[in-house]
Amino acid sequence: MTFFIMNDIKDWEDEYYRRMRLPAGDLHVYANRELFEAMETQVFTMANNNLQIPGGHYLSYTPDVHVGVGTCIGTTAVWRAEEAYVSPSIVGSDIGCGMRVHVTNLQREELQDLKLRRKLVRAVEKLLPADSQSRGQFADFRLEEVVRKGLHGLPRKYVPDAYTPKKATSLSHVEHSRFRFDEEYLERMPEAAWHRGHRQLGTLGSGNHFAEIQALEIPEEARATAEQWGLKDGQIIVMIHSGSRAWGGAVNELAGREVAKWMRSSGMGTADPKLAFAPLDSEAGQLYLHLMYSALNYAVVNRHLIAYAIREAAKDVFGSRFEMRTLYDLMHNYAWEEEHEGEAYFVHRKGATRALPPGHPDNPEPYRATGHPALIPGSMGTASYLMAGLPQGRANYHSICHGAGRVRSRSATKRLVSAGDFASALGVGTPDEVVVNQRSLEAIVDEAPQAYKDVDAIIDSVVGAGLAGVVAKCVPLAVIKG
Ligand code: 5GP
Ligand code: MN
Ligand code: MN
Repeated sequence: MTFFIMNDIKDWEDEYYRRMRLPAGDLHVYANRELFEAMETQVFTMANNNLQIPGGHYLSYTPDVHVGVGTCIGTTAVWRAEEAYVSPSIVGSDIGCGMRVHVTNLQREELQDLKLRRKLVRAVEKLLPADSQSRGQFADFRLEEVVRKGLHGLPRKYVPDAYTPKKATSLSHVEHSRFRFDEEYLERMPEAAWHRGHRQLGTLGSGNHFAEIQALEIPEEARATAEQWGLKDGQIIVMIHSGSRAWGGAVNELAGREVAKWMRSSGMGTADPKLAFAPLDSEAGQLYLHLMYSALNYAVVNRHLIAYAIREAAKDVFGSRFEMRTLYDLMHNYAWEEEHEGEAYFVHRKGATRALPPGHPDNPEPYRATGHPALIPGSMGTASYLMAGLPQGRANYHSICHGAGRVRSRSATKRLVSAGDFASALGVGTPDEVVVNQRSLEAIVDEAPQAYKDVDAIIDSVVGAGLAGVVAKCVPLAVIKG
């Protein structure tokens, strides 16, 4: 770490927010001291590269920051709208990846029995093929409708409240339900993407994607907000993490080629050949932007259908009295235009998520008074959190982290964590075991809690910096990994 000078650090103990002068510009880091000091040098090298993209207005890291391709996961990067660049690297490869939470009418006691948890996991697995090659449950829709219209393009039978205006929680409790874009760009998508996209809709995908059954613990000071969100202590919720599957992958491949061509022809680039960018108003930039929106539509429908499958599975186990309503769905890999203090900005979030404060006009109507739920999962063996934004988050364009973040790579985790360590992190053999769908823990040891940063230190940083407050802690009971 020889190439940057830290400034504006008045008190190492109390300052959670640090502005760093890198040779190419300023980087803003939100992290408590412990997390800040543990950051790898490479995350600062990457920031320095990202700051070399022309016209950048603001670059920041959330405390979960870790090395990604071209750009770190945990990045917020902002341009003024009229001189914007778009970077597929600062969106991330899984376009539209996001988190969704549903609230059930079950209480923790009703899922204390491990046999019942296993039964539920098996039922979910049946309706939610884990194998990325297998066909999802939902073949009777037109993919074209879905990528063009998002949730509005789904057959009505997959929308539990059938869009009736008074009850349409599927549409009002999401960060977005539909992106409009120039549909002519869809003609550029290869045949294979249409096939795979159709087959994979309603599937989790592998790796860090998951569906998790959790129980809520609501701290005293968050009671009022929790009540407004309709949450009770001990209530069972379902947290879902998935993205745009092969459709988003195909968008990256296609538009990535055009962006690379633009970079070559204009002689632009940084020390990192994997950091891709182009002016938003260039042909390559427009191709990426429009097709990215189609992938955001795909991703929100994918999570909606995963939730649909889980609802059906839970009804098989608990009967028709089972209910599950949407709390919120929000993305963490995307770029779009936002207004801040009356100015238009083009904001990228890569592994970062929005947390709007109470009263902010961009909150959907049901959350106008409280701020919308923002979701920070930890890992399959630790707590996850429901957060609400705070006014001070304005300084960071209302971005917070979207997870605890990796502390070690998949290969290092496989090397360092034994199946026994993993099992004890899940409480295997105790009455509080987190039930996992996978037959062998070895197969997913790279997803062990030991692969991730300490989520409580992450929350401490977010709360300490005044970006967001905790509304509920979510304790894992069962997890389905893709
Ligand atoms: P990403 O979107 O960057 O792939 O990861 C999202 C975050 O989800 C990770 O940073 C990690 O904190 C969290 N996470 C990964 N796997 C699980 C899981 O199985 N359960 C929970 N609750 N969180 C997870
Ligand atoms: Mn993803
Ligand atoms: Mn993700």
